Amino acid sequence: MPRPRKNDPGALVGPIVDDFAQKLGHTLERFITGRIAKETKDLGRRGRPGRRGRRRRARVLCYYTGCKNVAAPRFGMFCAALHKGISKADKERYRAAHLRAVAKRK
Ligand SMILES: [Zn+2]
Repeated sequence: MPRPRKNDPGALVGPIVDDFAQKLGHTLERFITGRIAKETKDLGRRGRPGRRGRRRRARVLCYYTGCKNVAAPRFGMFCAALHKGISKADKERYRAAHLRAVAKRK
């Protein structure tokens, strides 16, 4: 253990650091709480109300027109079952059509 110094900076810096950490904690808490409230509010507005209460994640459907399978972000939001293999150009086309459809729905 180090010999205690006469002018121990710890005594001076300690309270400042504690104070800072506490303020940072409070600020982060407020920020995160506000952020979560905002996100969940957005979700509530966008998603349809589920039969069994709130879902953890919005179920996005495959971008292929008329396909009701769940979209996989891994395959550019096309379903893994049927449409993951379509060509890049086709995906681009269906994605554009999907975005137009979504824009119209609002
Ligand atoms: Zn599909």
